Amino acid sequence: MPGSFKTEAVVLRSIRYGEADRVLHLYSATRGRVNAIAKGSRRPRSRFGGRLEPFFRLDLVLYQGRGELVTVTSAHTVAAHPNLRESGAALGAAARACDAVLRLLDSAEANPAAYNLLCRYLALLDGGDPAGGEASPARELDGAAGRATALAYRLKLALAAGFAPELASCARCGEADHLQGFSGAAGGVVCGACELGAFELSPEAHGFMVEALGRPLADAPGASPPTLRQVERAVAETLEHHAHVQLRAAA
Ligand SMILES: [Zn+2]
Repeated sequence: MPGSFKTEAVVLRSIRYGEADRVLHLYSATRGRVNAIAKGSRRPRSRFGGRLEPFFRLDLVLYQGRGELVTVTSAHTVAAHPNLRESGAALGAAARACDAVLRLLDSAEANPAAYNLLCRYLALLDGGDPAGGEASPARELDGAAGRATALAYRLKLALAAGFAPELASCARCGEADHLQGFSGAAGGVVCGACELGAFELSPEAHGFMVEALGRPLADAPGASPPTLRQVERAVAETLEHHAHVQLRAAA
């Protein structure tokens, strides 16, 4: 049914379109993925100003007509993340975070866990501290824009999308001990007897994944580069096998 609706959303991608328009790929709080057109937004003195750029968190009024794209009627800034734009590392991390949402969450259904996670990560990269707590081990190690926080985000996003790896017991046989490998095909950690096709997973990498999923993003655990490489491989193989999605390198 044609009509207007309001939602909060994050701009994942902003594409120049035609003479003066922009097509926006949005991740919205109430409808998941939404593609929108902002007519006249590239004209000087457009009422949208500069706020239809990637990583803006916006309060939007959108009009759903008969076409595939909804039309942006109005846009107000909830968070512009100006500090994030000053840092190459934070910009890169934010771009990968949005890219992961584009690849992993394509449905037009609300996913509050995924939306809130994306908002929290952008706020962390901007230097805000939504948790109000002390700096996490990850941020002491290589900062909010570093690999540990990026992988904690990626694990939580996989969980929100329904593709979290099995970490509590062997993903093939259910054995709770001797978990020493990881198999993307099996979808999680595997025991010594089920190791065929798995790669060796260190106790540190296993522990990182359990902790990263259990803690708030702002409180992500830290780990050494070799540990994080194993974690990245585990997440990548899980998503390749089960979500049929390939993500860019995490950092
Ligand atoms: Zn097993």
